[in-house]
Amino acid sequence: MKKILIRIAVVLVTLVILMYGTYKWMNARSFQAFGELTRKVETEEKVVALTFDDGPTENVEELLPILEKYDAKATFFLIGKDMEEHMEEAKAIVEAGHQVGNHTYNHNPMVFKRYSFYQSEVDRTNELIREAGYERDIDFRPPYGKKLIGLPYYLQKQDMETIMWNLEPDTYYSKPEEKVAYVEDNVTPGSIILTHPMYDDTGQALKAVEGILQSLTQQGYTFVTVDEL
Ligand SMILES: [Zn+2]
Repeated sequence: MKKILIRIAVVLVTLVILMYGTYKWMNARSFQAFGELTRKVETEEKVVALTFDDGPTENVEELLPILEKYDAKATFFLIGKDMEEHMEEAKAIVEAGHQVGNHTYNHNPMVFKRYSFYQSEVDRTNELIREAGYERDIDFRPPYGKKLIGLPYYLQKQDMETIMWNLEPDTYYSKPEEKVAYVEDNVTPGSIILTHPMYDDTGQALKAVEGILQSLTQQGYTFVTVDEL
């Protein structure tokens, strides 16, 4: 009886360790099973990449002039189904010379799904990005930063690079001034900053973006796209 209990305990502990390992692996910012993954770039130059996830939405109309004011180029990871609804905004991003990346069609976590699901999520969105007039290589950013095996394998086959990030103000703070202070304190040359201004209708997210642009410009940084970085 005692032996059986010990065996059950060993199996349970092993399961917990495996589940924890899978969880850490799935959410890793700097590692994946296949293909290239970037979360920051080693450089001496004072350049950073500002990246926007999700959308496009009507907020693009306000965001583009803010970027222009600071002579900044940014990278937009767009969602396929949002592009279908806001193709004009997607085209405006491309016309303004920003980088456009793939953030899947439905914004589902890209783990524990069938391989054909990864394929269609990536392909449908790439088609829409081309429809918006974008001609450069298309990078990928996984929703919620989640990936395991099937997705990275497919991306590698498509020659698509995965872009993560090393600064995420929205995860830790909600007030614009706190987000700006966090970026100021942690920025280094080559940083990739993640923000989410698309679904915010209070103006707070755009205020944070403008604060980051203003503060880092004062520090002598310039804003480039991920592929320029
Ligand atoms: Zn997202």
